[in-house]
Amino acid sequence: MAEALTKRSADDLRSPICCILGHVDTGKTKLLDCIRRTNVQEGEAGGITQQIGATYFPMENIRERTKELPEAANMRVPGLLVIDTPGHESFTNLRSRGSGLCDIAILVIDIMHGLEPQTIESINLLRMRKTPFIVALNKVDRLYQWKPRNNAPIRTTLQEQERHTKSEFETRTKQIMVQLQEQSLNSELYWKNKDKRKAVSIIPTSAISGEGIPDLLYLLVLLTQEMMEKKLMYVSEVECTVLEVKVVEGLGTTIDVVLVNGVLHEGDQIVVCGMQGPIVTTIRALLTPHPMKELRVKGSYQHHKELKAAQGIKITAQGLEHAIAGTQLYVVGEDEDVETIKEEAMKDMKSVMGRIDKS
Ligand code: GDP
Repeated sequence: MAEALTKRSADDLRSPICCILGHVDTGKTKLLDCIRRTNVQEGEAGGITQQIGATYFPMENIRERTKELPEAANMRVPGLLVIDTPGHESFTNLRSRGSGLCDIAILVIDIMHGLEPQTIESINLLRMRKTPFIVALNKVDRLYQWKPRNNAPIRTTLQEQERHTKSEFETRTKQIMVQLQEQSLNSELYWKNKDKRKAVSIIPTSAISGEGIPDLLYLLVLLTQEMMEKKLMYVSEVECTVLEVKVVEGLGTTIDVVLVNGVLHEGDQIVVCGMQGPIVTTIRALLTPHPMKELRVKGSYQHHKELKAAQGIKITAQGLEHAIAGTQLYVVGEDEDVETIKEEAMKDMKSVMGRIDKS
């Protein structure tokens, strides 16, 4: 532990983890697709959106997408891991014992509809979890006579709109800011937002034309770097949450995990919480989908000797049949006592069961 902490440095940051929340049909799936440039919503991944997945965006990709934004220079994190949470149930269930899985969230609001019931639920949930968030004010292309310019930074494209379109944009944005105020939230368009800790930043976007996506990516990186540098400092101690337990043809029972911090190695001895007691096993393979593909998309996997946070990872090992999603994964270090770790792992059982009882 002490060694892990002394190694922390601002030059060695892990990737921030981001969740997407909001009312149904505001465009959460479409926004993710747009960032990824895949088409999950229209069927490439079997059309399934009500599942938990994760997508890793390497920094090269983010740089490419933000190159038209002059201010997007000093990006120090290695990438961004986006957890696909179409509803907010997964967000609730995946919080294990107060350890936050998500560093930051995107709350999606439809500019034509304003705040809707699940928007308010999401706000309350984010508040309860003390998760910082930004607002993607989506579907700007639906404003009357909007002239799209694909993948453009939002201010560039706003400037190019006719006066009446700009005026509609301003009216609708103001209305939504008032609605947010009614929820006791100060908000501001991100380029006017002087104190990003006090007011929520709004980024107008279109998931169809990609407008505002450069701004969204840039802001996610900027805010996480600025507001939570310490939390993002890479440590060698493993922090890892089990998202799903799945049987995969040819691999047996596997677990999909999010490695929040630290590093996992092939051959590591791990302990996971199980229905019938703690499971002590050894990592047989560490697998990831190919970069830019989502964890749930079927296909071949890349094998790794070791993986560094943050990552969505599929782990194969023996005896995972009764592992419980939503719990923590522990690695048994060289000098560590397995029994103590087993006890620690089973504490998660109580908190997971507590959540199930309540719901
Ligand atoms: P989710 O329920 O929040 O995941 O919403 P979806 O991503 O499934 O989107 C709901 C509908 O809105 C779909 O028909 C999308 O094509 C459409 N949609 C999403 N984003 C946009 C956008 O930016 N502009 C327009 N015009 N339509 C959008």
